[in-house]
Amino acid sequence: MALLQIAEPGMSADPHQHRLAVGIDLGTTNSLVATVKNSETVVLADHEGRKLLPSVVRFLPDGSTAVGYEARRAVSEDAQNTIVSVKRFMGRSSAELKLNASLPYVFAENDGMLRVKTVAGDKSPVEISSEILKELKARAEESLGGELVGAVITVPAYFDDAQRQATKDAARLAGLNVLRLLNEPTAAALAYGLDEGAEGLYVIYDLGGGTFDVSVLRLTKGVFEVLATGGDSALGGDDFDHRIFCWAVSEANLSEILAPDDKSRLMVAARAVKEALSTAEEAAMNVTLSSGQTITLTLTRAKFKELTSRLVQKTIDTLDFVMRDAKLDRQNIQGLVLVGGSTRMPVIREAVKSYLGFDPLDNINPDEVVAVGAAKQANLLAGNSAGDDWLLLDVTPLSLGLETMGGLVEKIIPRNTPIPVAMAQDFTTFKDGQTAMAIHVVQGEREIVDACRSLARFELRGLPALVAGAARIRVTFSVDADGLLSVSARETQTGVEAHVTVKPSYGLTDEEIMRMLKDGTGNAQQDMHERALREEEVESRRLIESTVGALATDADLLTDQEQNNIRDLISRLLAAVESHELEAIKSLEKELTQATESFAERRMDRAIAQALSGKSVEDIEGK
Ligand code: AMP
Repeated sequence: MALLQIAEPGMSADPHQHRLAVGIDLGTTNSLVATVKNSETVVLADHEGRKLLPSVVRFLPDGSTAVGYEARRAVSEDAQNTIVSVKRFMGRSSAELKLNASLPYVFAENDGMLRVKTVAGDKSPVEISSEILKELKARAEESLGGELVGAVITVPAYFDDAQRQATKDAARLAGLNVLRLLNEPTAAALAYGLDEGAEGLYVIYDLGGGTFDVSVLRLTKGVFEVLATGGDSALGGDDFDHRIFCWAVSEANLSEILAPDDKSRLMVAARAVKEALSTAEEAAMNVTLSSGQTITLTLTRAKFKELTSRLVQKTIDTLDFVMRDAKLDRQNIQGLVLVGGSTRMPVIREAVKSYLGFDPLDNINPDEVVAVGAAKQANLLAGNSAGDDWLLLDVTPLSLGLETMGGLVEKIIPRNTPIPVAMAQDFTTFKDGQTAMAIHVVQGEREIVDACRSLARFELRGLPALVAGAARIRVTFSVDADGLLSVSARETQTGVEAHVTVKPSYGLTDEEIMRMLKDGTGNAQQDMHERALREEEVESRRLIESTVGALATDADLLTDQEQNNIRDLISRLLAAVESHELEAIKSLEKELTQATESFAERRMDRAIAQALSGKSVEDIEGK
């Protein structure tokens, strides 16, 4: 289990020296930094004792930057230069972000890279994120009294290559040595030391302000593996606030059309009521509207439960879907970890408990649990904790594969495969004398290339000119521990090689991943038909090509009637292929194969006769 015992370059091997390493939860709304001190994991606070750092960055005209609470205070007064939730923009192009008109920023795009125009110049999401990381690094170094050897930074399990690369780049820009990127659910499990617990399944249920993520981990013989992930990127605490908001509008008989200012006052009050109900049986909501009208309402836990029951059920349904999709039995769940501020709501705890049949794990602050796990991992990676023997495995969220003839996808690494992983498959050439092969790397669950996400294209050139099917090209897909993909192709006889590290200029959104997963299941039937059709089409074209070639050289072996029949079948088969009629293709292909059977025999006889002419029997036997 040497994976986590690797000595990082430049790291001293002195086992007695404690190396300063931190875990960073780089969140959409808030970020945190934690470390292990004297075997205790602590979340580091700022001068004012605040542990959370709002993930907000403000650029000022003098070139300086404000990060955190100070920046957050400027959100309404200087919206254009104050960037919130930059995590949503990491590794994405503007085309992909479907930029929402309500965003206050002015975007620029150069070289396919999205930037936000600010008074201090155009800033990329990587630069903006690095400001948050710089702040956390400075906080850690000040509080620990020394330079950090490195940091473990957490990312959502769904983050694709581009998003992970962007996160790593931001860390490098902030002067941080990234020991590892760690999936958030894995970090949460480590925080609870589940690796030391009983073997079985563990679920990480993460309900934040705007997103819901669920992950299933399996622990076997001290080895941790993320088996499956799923969620809903448009479900979170904000939706619970909105239910209270709608209830208040109706209870107070307010007009559906409210001034934006009143709307935000009601939403703020709704959130406060929701949070109060986590510890009280009922809570008061007092709001003064811009007209001077005052609204005073009381919300009970029972009413809140009724208002939000559908939202709660939606999370349970998603959890159940992920379990069933991964063919896992909920009877085997050993424990469930609650992550995210919204899991403080008793309605959530009750629903989760009734689904599981036992209490979830909740004694670590749900806002801090990810940073705590990352800190433990950083401590281990920095070499501070002797004797530990973990192997952490995450999974690929979507299948990775290659385009093959006919626009079909050959999956090389199926989704939910634990990483790091390398898998290889052999391919061959399609045409005689083919000296180059185009390799198109795709991601997704569908069988058809067009329905998958294109990640990269490259070419393997300089193949030996052999007959179709003779060359052997081994394509290897490797996904490293950070979830980054590289693909290499090698012709096994000549050793000709080509390689690409997949760094797409844009990434997949969580919604896209969920849609692609759903599509993959929902369209299985249609895909099977499509696959059968494309395979027949490829086969037919191959048959047509070889028959046309044979006619060109050996047509004299056929009678006129036989020739006409074959030519007629070729043109009918071609027409069927072009109009994608599966049944017609199948039957014409069969007819053409039958019609050319004796032609093939005659050609074979001729080839043998030619080969034998001029050679003695001894020559042949002596071979
Ligand atoms: P996170 O994104 O994990 O920081 O979660 C933020 C969400 O947690 C927001 O919707 C908050 O309203 C919610 N939250 C924080 N504290 C509580 C609480 N005590 N009860 C209910 N929801 C809370």
